Amino acid sequence: MTNQELWKIVLDEMELSLSKANFTTWFKNTSIVSSSDTAILINVPNGFAKEWLEKKFNKTIFKIIGDVKPEVREIKYTIGGGNLAERIQKGDFAQFIKNESVKKESADLEVNKTNNLNKRYTFDFFIVGSNNELAHAASLAVVKNLGKTYNPLFLYGGVGLGKTHLLHSIGNKIFSKDPSCKILYTPAEKITAEILDSLKNKTIEDLKQKYCLLDLLIIDDIQFVAGKEKTQEIIFSTFNELYSKNKQIILSSDRPPSAIPTLEERLRSRFEGGMIADIGIPDFETRLAILKLKATQKDFDIDDQSLSYIATNIQRNVRELEGALNRIYAFSQIYNKIPNFKEVKKLLAAYLSTPFKKTTHQTILKAVSDFYDVSINDIVKRSRKKEVVRPRQVCMFLLREETKYSFPEIGSKLGNRDHSTIIHGYEKIKAEEDADQRTKQELTLIKEKIYQTFDA
Ligand code: ADP
Ligand code: MG
Repeated sequence: MTNQELWKIVLDEMELSLSKANFTTWFKNTSIVSSSDTAILINVPNGFAKEWLEKKFNKTIFKIIGDVKPEVREIKYTIGGGNLAERIQKGDFAQFIKNESVKKESADLEVNKTNNLNKRYTFDFFIVGSNNELAHAASLAVVKNLGKTYNPLFLYGGVGLGKTHLLHSIGNKIFSKDPSCKILYTPAEKITAEILDSLKNKTIEDLKQKYCLLDLLIIDDIQFVAGKEKTQEIIFSTFNELYSKNKQIILSSDRPPSAIPTLEERLRSRFEGGMIADIGIPDFETRLAILKLKATQKDFDIDDQSLSYIATNIQRNVRELEGALNRIYAFSQIYNKIPNFKEVKKLLAAYLSTPFKKTTHQTILKAVSDFYDVSINDIVKRSRKKEVVRPRQVCMFLLREETKYSFPEIGSKLGNRDHSTIIHGYEKIKAEEDADQRTKQELTLIKEKIYQTFDA
């Protein structure tokens, strides 16, 4: 039997058990690209189909294939189009596995291992508006005159307004001008952990030495060191050493130095000794420009009316603005079409605060239970089964984000759990959402389901 014939059997059976819309959504443009006696590689058009097939349909597909070819042990899914199919020779699994791991590595390559700079964040992709004009100008001045004009440079502003982006932009620009320049970008949280570790291991002198050899030290979210005396002490001595050698220091924070509690006075006055610039909330034009730029970066041809709509409705946070665009982009990927204005409005519902958001805790539980294939009962009850732990945490997260319930209320909806358990679960998924592409996609898919954007 050829791969094509085998896949046709699977498709025919799946078609019988699914609605037409569902079948088309998940199985259109799928095929077997490669097979050996015991393994099969299925090609799918995009990440969402891959996710869905792995999560929802793998068991069924396995069963259908198992009826025909009982020796098959392994089914894998891969994203690609005709190209991939061409590249992968029949039966060549090794090649496939290699390709996959290469892809992963290239994603990691965006961050430079030595200086921690993320190549994605550059001045070229930073929109300047009245909210960040000063911070942007000061950043450019620092690039021009490292260690001389503004030292330290202290940028502050609310969450998701572009501080981290600017910090990396400065680092990247300096690095491209002079690759021998010793740069280190570090979140304050990370430098704190590093300092505490080396205090414990008695290697603190080595660490101080390492910092003091830098030409440019960038510490993100410095407010994190509040109350951490030992860390502040090391940062203070590093600061003095670098400063006296005209080496550049750049800091960011969610608030000005004067508003960071339990920051040692001597450190505060150091931070205030250079240039302080704030980043505020972008105006409509800036928000629209940012959206247009992000859409272009993705090669996403969404209309201006839709972008204006997003820019009108999401005002306070660029990360959210981007999140909304990503959601709509996800739609276009799944359905292989660019959503129209009406669809954009619907899709955005999940991102906007009430009264747009209309969902219930039952809907959320049902969507999560469907997605992970675990029963609502197991999620709510005190089941210790390993496979329900994560779905339960996803429920905690979504209940918090998508409804108005407080943590204790969520606890009572989820089998009378303590609110500290809920907070823990919420924060765990929240962190994963930021750091992990896969979690992000899962959450997008579940939200699609919650808000039933389409009539599948
Ligand atoms: P912060 O560090 O202030 O919390 P980030 O720098 O992480 O915020 O920005 C959040 C997201 O918004 C990033 O993806 C960033 O690229 C984007 N962003 C913020 N401001 C701008 C801007 N002016 N131009 C382009 N992208 C921006
Ligand atoms: Mg940041």
